[in-house]
Amino acid sequence: MTGKRYLRDGRAPIPADERTSAVMSRIRARNTGPELRLRSALRALGHTGYRLHVAGLPARPDIAFVGRKVAVLVHGCFWHGCPHCTPARPKSHRSFWNAKLKANQERDARKQQALEDLGWTVIVSWECRIKADAAGEAARVSEVLMRNLTSGRAAG
Ligand SMILES: [Zn+2]
Repeated sequence: MTGKRYLRDGRAPIPADERTSAVMSRIRARNTGPELRLRSALRALGHTGYRLHVAGLPARPDIAFVGRKVAVLVHGCFWHGCPHCTPARPKSHRSFWNAKLKANQERDARKQQALEDLGWTVIVSWECRIKADAAGEAARVSEVLMRNLTSGRAAG
């Protein structure tokens, strides 16, 4: 294992410490721990009709209830700039990281808007919230699903 995998976009500096390396190695990961926990909590509430990483939609939602047009974006706190736990940023390459994370947040906002423009209800579920209370996050999703069901949309 070399540091090369951190340089796949040709711009990211090699992280200065192990903790940053661990965070970066999970970049854009699919089926991450928080995602699995949220899905499990959703299934426990009987919401099994979701699809994963649906292609052809903005943001490729991690969890999508297609019929009800409800998209759940599971966001890693570091990478997406969590407003709840405000994760520490790497001390080295500070300006790189500030620009990178700002760009990520702007992209997130654009993608969320694009989904909403297509009639989707978007729920952002943060990693730290799922870790603290996966059932609570699932309940939040459930509320929206029920609302979209009773508003006359087809069940998804
Ligand atoms: Zn957080």
